[in-house]
Amino acid sequence: EIGSLAERMGYKAYLVGGVVRDMLMNKEVWDLDVVVEGNAIELAGELARIHGVDLHPFPEFGTAHLKIDSIKLEFATTRRETYPHPGAYPLVEFASLREDLLRRDFTINAMAVSLMSEDFGTLIDYFGGLRDLKDKLIRVLHPLSFVEDPVRILRALRFAGRLGFRLSKSTEKLLIKAVELGLLKEAPQGRIFSEIRLALREENLPEIIKLYKKYRVLESLFEGFSWDDQLERRLKGLRSVIEWHRIEFPQERLDYGWLYLMLLLLRVDAAGYMNFLNAPSWVRQGYTFLKKDLDRLLGDLKKAQKPSEVYRLLKGKHLSVLLLLMSFPEVQDRVKLYLEKLRHVKVDPREFSGLSGPDLGKAMEEKKSQLMDSLFSLNS
Ligand code: ATP
Repeated sequence: EIGSLAERMGYKAYLVGGVVRDMLMNKEVWDLDVVVEGNAIELAGELARIHGVDLHPFPEFGTAHLKIDSIKLEFATTRRETYPHPGAYPLVEFASLREDLLRRDFTINAMAVSLMSEDFGTLIDYFGGLRDLKDKLIRVLHPLSFVEDPVRILRALRFAGRLGFRLSKSTEKLLIKAVELGLLKEAPQGRIFSEIRLALREENLPEIIKLYKKYRVLESLFEGFSWDDQLERRLKGLRSVIEWHRIEFPQERLDYGWLYLMLLLLRVDAAGYMNFLNAPSWVRQGYTFLKKDLDRLLGDLKKAQKPSEVYRLLKGKHLSVLLLLMSFPEVQDRVKLYLEKLRHVKVDPREFSGLSGPDLGKAMEEKKSQLMDSLFSLNS
């Protein structure tokens, strides 16, 4: 339908980028990127009119968004991009499909599928994307790619982690060089940190973090960051805690990715980075709390003699703080007891007839403590 509309307008239209990659990998796709050799906004407008949906045009970029049922479509006019300096927002000019594909990050993201009736469904693959997809390789399109846009360093590792791919030999060399040159520090931090946010949402985040470690990117991004065995052990611990929590308390799901970030940055002075990252308030509050009180709380938890003491120490703490604490092996059992049992202990206020206000509260808490200490025990 898009193709025949385009034909009638004298344009050509193609599916491009991640959607082509995902279709070739038999994944479901909901976000379709369409490029048009011609006026993309006009074509998108016509499609929106036919389907009776809203059009969101961005004339300064030559792009338009619309949504038909649950499918999101983004239309863009084919363009060429030149970078005035590394990592800068690019200057944009109209160009052919080939040039539009050439500006893209990796071969697997630089394929197109024709939507035109004469060759509908034909794969257009100028740079060997299909072969790299089969060989499970991330490969840049030209040697200056990472210099042109250092955000691609992080994108390369995100896709590698997500898809279980490796970097091609030459791409790996270029990436290592780019990190050594400190390009990540020079790139606009807004774009870098929004890329990090995308990584935090990935299912395979632990794999991505391993790649960040292998290629030493966190050292470049966060002043004062360094790796050691302890941090690695804690990350592993956090991973199993999260897997446990996901299964045990599916209704309590949270954006687990932030927990990894909080753990990674515990030994960095990261209040400022939290701003750059636009971290949600629970992350900032949890992080600030842990920076200040982690050691004390770990000590107190270890010393606790009775379940009711554990309860008092953990009561009211945000789930993020609890899960991070639980990833420390020395207190794992205690936090687990809290999450599984202690926090659910309830007493019935009707048992306390005659009491009200603070007195009632206090009596109930005491009763709760007794109950906990009789029902549960701490193995030391
Ligand atoms: P995802 O599945 O994460 O959405 P995607 O490949 O669709 O992956 P987007 O960030 O939506 O990723 O980008 C769409 C396409 O735009 C990419 O497939 C790639 O072709 C191109 N692209 C995105 N960012 C860059 C970049 N920094 N440099 C070059 N090309 C890029």
